[in-house]
Amino acid sequence: MSINLSKGAPCPTCGHKLDRATPVGFPAPSVNPGDITVCAYCADVLVVLDTDGNLRKMTEQEEIALEDDTRERLSYIQLVIKNHGRRA
Ligand SMILES: [Zn+2]
Repeated sequence: MSINLSKGAPCPTCGHKLDRATPVGFPAPSVNPGDITVCAYCADVLVVLDTDGNLRKMTEQEEIALEDDTRERLSYIQLVIKNHGRRA
């Protein structure tokens, strides 16, 4: 069950409308409720809530429960987003 990102949903942290996602992994998976994403504007870690693409912030407990490899990938993605923003 893939989500429909065409309407866009606001980031619960910064409010930017998010209407696209780039899957990480091979083969590239579709985006589904429960998946983790990172806001391209504020780099906060978010969880996809439903098929409309609504989002919520990841809790500290959820972040602690992530596998080390996943947490490292998220940290790298956040670093890239934050560094890109500084150049703009
Ligand atoms: Zn954001």
